[in-house]
Amino acid sequence: MNQTNIEWADWTWNPITGCSNTCPYCYARRNAKRFHGGDFRPRFHPDRLSKPFEKRWKGKEGIVFTCSMGEFWDDKIDPIVREQVIHIVNECPEKVFVFLTKRPENIDLTMPRNAIVGVSVDGSAGSLERIGLLDGWPGIAHRLLCFEPLLHPVRPASLKLSRIDWMIIGGQTQPNRRPEQHWVRRLVEEARVFHVPVFVKPNAGYGTLIREFPEIELEV
Ligand code: SF4
Repeated sequence: MNQTNIEWADWTWNPITGCSNTCPYCYARRNAKRFHGGDFRPRFHPDRLSKPFEKRWKGKEGIVFTCSMGEFWDDKIDPIVREQVIHIVNECPEKVFVFLTKRPENIDLTMPRNAIVGVSVDGSAGSLERIGLLDGWPGIAHRLLCFEPLLHPVRPASLKLSRIDWMIIGGQTQPNRRPEQHWVRRLVEEARVFHVPVFVKPNAGYGTLIREFPEIELEV
């Protein structure tokens, strides 16, 4: 695991890296180009499975952005590998593990109660379909919608917030692209209607800083 400057997380943990998708704004791919010779193929790192048990992190509470440098539900990742990662999540009930995906159609696991599963939604028609897929999979205790980068306006009618536990809203970095303020405001207002906590990242350029977190009951 590593410390992170991602505002809504305490640590990142990357037992799987890489991705078969080709999102043009992917910071993980940029990172791979910069530090790993551009190799961004989906890959399992078995040596990283034990990281949450290292002395500096063992037993500590916090939010772990899991697979921040890749796609956990990539087609090329063996489902048995995913089970191994989930086994570790189960073994660390004091931490909250956040999984963000653009492949909710591949979700194939019952997720532990200390996991939050989120879909990335940039507001395009294809990304909005992910909301329904996330809603439809029964084996998830906590759901997140991550509007980062928010590139298009989202109509409230496209949202299914009744079973959503958290929303994150942000802009695009490199190159900087901030969402229109009224797009953000509309999402925040809709979240308020359904009592969904919201985290608006500074890169959204929204005047008011909103830093809310979901209430997750941990079984420690
Ligand atoms: S799905 Fe995520 S990791 Fe994969 S290319 Fe897109 S932004 Fe990058």
